[in-house]
Amino acid sequence: MELLTIILILIIGILSFLLLKKERVLGINLEDNQKEVKIIENKDYQKNILSLLNYIPEGIIIINKSKEILYNNSSAQKRFETKLNENISSSLRNPDLLISIEKAFNNQKVKDLEIEIRNPSVLRMNISLFYDNNNLFFDEESCMLFIRDLTEFYKFQQLKSDFVANVSHELRTPLQSIKMGLETFDKNSDINKNSEVNNLLPVMISQSERMENLIRDLLSLSKIELQEHIRPTHEINLIEVIDYVIKTYENIVKKNNVNIEFQKTENFKIIGDRDKLIEIFTNLIDNSIKYSDKNKEIKITTKKEGNLNIVSVEDQGIGIPKEFIHRITERFYTVDPSKSRSVGGTGLGLAIVKHLVSQHRGEMDISSVQNKGTTISVKFNSL
Ligand code: ATP
Ligand code: MG
Repeated sequence: MELLTIILILIIGILSFLLLKKERVLGINLEDNQKEVKIIENKDYQKNILSLLNYIPEGIIIINKSKEILYNNSSAQKRFETKLNENISSSLRNPDLLISIEKAFNNQKVKDLEIEIRNPSVLRMNISLFYDNNNLFFDEESCMLFIRDLTEFYKFQQLKSDFVANVSHELRTPLQSIKMGLETFDKNSDINKNSEVNNLLPVMISQSERMENLIRDLLSLSKIELQEHIRPTHEINLIEVIDYVIKTYENIVKKNNVNIEFQKTENFKIIGDRDKLIEIFTNLIDNSIKYSDKNKEIKITTKKEGNLNIVSVEDQGIGIPKEFIHRITERFYTVDPSKSRSVGGTGLGLAIVKHLVSQHRGEMDISSVQNKGTTISVKFNSL
């Protein structure tokens, strides 16, 4: 018995020595910085890791440079019907994904991407790509795809959006009648109104206008959310769109005595949806007027940076305290609710802008200094 224990200890000792000898340090190209990561170069060990990945709910796929699947865990097989040795595009056919894979193999930085496929039902997913040029698992360059299935999440979102859209729609008609009634009552001088009624009527009218705006924004937001994954397809000249929006603000600009300066750039075209781009710039210009004092300057600049067309709307208004900047695109969020209420804001404008920009596969940057001003930039891929 004692001899058996000694032999066992000896075997374990030799095995550990062999494994440790094979351990080496490799540089893995991680997204944020080059880090040294310890890995064990032992194919059995690697196989164990790969079989462990079968218990992870996210889909994990490893492909080679020809986009053939070298490994797919159980979740990927079940949910996305991927098969070993098949080309990735047989199961996950999406042009954006294929472009990102190419980029990853060229060692370029690749952002997470959200795609929709029909396989045969509609599936929505978020994919992170990791390029492995150190042959961690296979004896060739490979790319690992981490796939999070967002289908159920979006179904829930859709239910929520449908509910909000239905309720808003049902509220709109009776509210319009109430507002119309109040306005008629207010304008009709034949009706005998005491001073209390005369004081109350403008408040009731302005509150019903506020509700009307709120319902309009809620309807708009739920419609946008449902269409966010549908890419716009039209060729749009952004300069023409911004010019149009500035024109619609002519009267308000005169009334507030603000000056809008618009610096134009030649050939400023993107693929987009005109009405939605109008909505984006209307919201941005509206905010810069609403949250600036009279006699101030608003600067709209356009510039090209690489393959991006960037529009910045800069004001000299009240600004936003640093700690609140990240919250202003949340729905219903207002930095100072009483200020927003006084200028007729509902806190939905920038939430709408955020969704519309993301529908255009664009990005939005916000910078602001309290009491100095705010600059909001939107970036789109140029045509
Ligand atoms: P709505 O756009 O629905 O009429 P809103 O303007 O209040 O209402 P958002 O456009 O979503 O809502 O803006 C959210 C909040 O962010 C605003 O209430 C305001 O506090 C702040 N904000 C947005 N733009 C500016 C700006 N240019 N300057 C200062 N504060 C701003
Ligand atoms: Mg707004």
